[in-house]
Amino acid sequence: MHEYSIAYDLYATARKAAVEHHADRVKKVCVEVGKMAMVNPEQVIFLFDTIKEDDPLFTKAVLECNEILPHTKCTCGYDGEEIFVCPRCGALPELVKGREIVVTHIEIEVDGA
Ligand SMILES: [Zn+2]
Repeated sequence: MHEYSIAYDLYATARKAAVEHHADRVKKVCVEVGKMAMVNPEQVIFLFDTIKEDDPLFTKAVLECNEILPHTKCTCGYDGEEIFVCPRCGALPELVKGREIVVTHIEIEVDGA
């Protein structure tokens, strides 16, 4: 249930941000999913929909997953997308980006006072 805990985390993060901004409705939650995070975005979206179902704040909320490519760096100076073998020196490059799953922004509606 790796995806379930991820979906729940995204929901909790978005909910906290929405409450902090006095939202009446959340319209969209944008998420960056690193290709190396090894999750299935469709499954995360499905689970997110299940989790938010009972929350009136999230009735219309849509989870948008944007896959991001990995980014690696090697001690030899290589900087690119090869994740297993450095094309310059053959060493294992360091993954600097591509494993994270983060909420980048949320869109909310506020009815006003
Ligand atoms: Zn290298």
